[in-house]
Amino acid sequence: MSTPTTHEFQAEVKQVLDIVIHSLYTDREIFIRELVSNAADALEKMRHTQLTEKDIFQADKPLEISITSDETAGTLTIADAGIGMTRAELVENLGTIAHSGSKAFASALKNAGKGGDATLIGQFGVGFYSAFMVAEEVKVYTHSWRGEGEHLVWSSTGVGTYTIEEAPDQDRGCRIVIRLKEDARDFARPGTIRSVLGKYSNFVGFPITLNGERVNTVEAIWLKNKDEVTEEQYESFYKFTAKAFDKPVYRLHFQADAPLVINALLFLPEQNMEAFGMGQMEPGVALYCKKVLIDPHPPKLLPDWMRFVKGVIDSEDLPLNISRESMQDSALVRKLGEVVGKRLLKFLDKEAQDDAKKFQEFYMKFSRFFKEGVATDHANRDAIAKLLRFESSLTEPGEVVGLGDYVKRMKEDQKAIYYQVAPSRAAIEGGPYLEAFKSKGYEVLFLYESIDEYVVSTLPEFEGKKLQAVNSPDVDLGEVSSEGESLSEDDTLALAGWLKESLGDGVEEVRAGKRLVSAPALAITPEGEMTPQLRQMMKALKPSEVEAPKVILEINPRHELVKKVNHLRQNDADLAKLLSEQILDNALLSAGLLDDPQRVVARTEKIMARIAG
Ligand code: ADP
Repeated sequence: MSTPTTHEFQAEVKQVLDIVIHSLYTDREIFIRELVSNAADALEKMRHTQLTEKDIFQADKPLEISITSDETAGTLTIADAGIGMTRAELVENLGTIAHSGSKAFASALKNAGKGGDATLIGQFGVGFYSAFMVAEEVKVYTHSWRGEGEHLVWSSTGVGTYTIEEAPDQDRGCRIVIRLKEDARDFARPGTIRSVLGKYSNFVGFPITLNGERVNTVEAIWLKNKDEVTEEQYESFYKFTAKAFDKPVYRLHFQADAPLVINALLFLPEQNMEAFGMGQMEPGVALYCKKVLIDPHPPKLLPDWMRFVKGVIDSEDLPLNISRESMQDSALVRKLGEVVGKRLLKFLDKEAQDDAKKFQEFYMKFSRFFKEGVATDHANRDAIAKLLRFESSLTEPGEVVGLGDYVKRMKEDQKAIYYQVAPSRAAIEGGPYLEAFKSKGYEVLFLYESIDEYVVSTLPEFEGKKLQAVNSPDVDLGEVSSEGESLSEDDTLALAGWLKESLGDGVEEVRAGKRLVSAPALAITPEGEMTPQLRQMMKALKPSEVEAPKVILEINPRHELVKKVNHLRQNDADLAKLLSEQILDNALLSAGLLDDPQRVVARTEKIMARIAG
């Protein structure tokens, strides 16, 4: 027999263990759920391995989970006949965390507050370590499914290091032995274990025994009729299948016979896990065929943006021996995903109409996914666009409107759906663009996120109406009524010519603007130039490659300041130049195009000196 080797835990694992051991003291029971769920995953992988591999260690061993407890010794043992682990896999799986799990977990816990919230742990891919909430020591006895593998035991007290040594006569799979802490000995009582299993593990697709007695009935509630399933069953199934701790906000349970036989049970969660900094989630809707799990996270079943949806799709039309690989290219699977995806979008649209407030609350957390959907899922683009929500010039701050309602309240002569992209409501309401639209009674959508612009650019139309930015050169508002006497047409033309001359390269054109009410001027991005938002993004990426902006300057010939500049250009050309440069920079600032705020400071000082002098 070899001597044990000692290994240091990776720093991220140490961090997780430190939290688990020192900060989590509520909901400790969930460690049972985590270990049972790992055992079930390992059995699931075994079932698939059996389909493709020949040389399997203990090939006839039944796929089961057996739990035994010893109250006198204070130990709890969870054994499975799953795929087990090799020495390298032990090091990889129980000594390191591959992704951002530990960081995301730590920050989620911080939000959860005092006492921690242990129920979160499974979502962050660190469930195994939850055993250390209750364990003095954990031993993992294992033999991999691979024929000539080693018989091994991994042991640790959760502090700093673990050891691996040979341990003869291991069965295939993993046997996890937990020596319970003094204050956790209750978890060796069969009554306690049974009640925890009842809460969390009812839906495990493999037999579970406790001290030799069968404790679960394998239930496929998605195959039942809606009226045969209770709210509690739905909720605990959601928690089981999504490894979730929250409650689902929406649930869609349906059966269909044509064009395919489908039993689907889908849930929309309350919490957006990607918002915790977990990186991109795996698809959350599992694929089954006649109760048998084909793939827990099938990548090409539903469109990628629907990865936050949880649940199950079962279709008896699929061949039972379909492999995960062939599944991905299967036309049948694609069709299945199409049908269910469409159904889900229809369901959400109806829910949004029935209870707009509830949908808004849900949407606020998951808006990123819907926006991604509009940009990437062409087949469903219009249906997803219906679900987008934005603040607008007609909503209160924090309230939103959908494109459908927007179109319903469009004015008769209104030509397009108007939007402005800007960082905040204040920036839009204080800027020069909105007022003309307001004076016409046209609603303007307020888009606050930088991806919004990209999203609307992939959506040229909604219900036959064009989407148009308020600062687009193509906006046609007809006549905008405004007060005050205007410069004559000749004077306006002459002033525009003079401004073009004196402002130089930054302006492509100066013209009288029809869409100005109380501002002296505004800047419009000419056709073919980058929009201000895109330009800002490019500037952040490659500052040296972004040239100075070029704009069309629209002036308001009714505005006092504009009239003054016109007068001054003939009498005090210096001051007229200073003022017109300032008018341009103000317009650039409102447009999000001002690169050099410092020059504004210098110039305003000059102007102030002129006034004071
Ligand atoms: P997750 O299960 O979310 O990946 P865990 O911390 O619970 O995270 O487990 C880490 C890894 O250890 C698993 O991904 C799996 O590869 C391995 N593992 C855990 N338990 C078992 C088991 N009973 N049998 C085989 N492998 C296991």
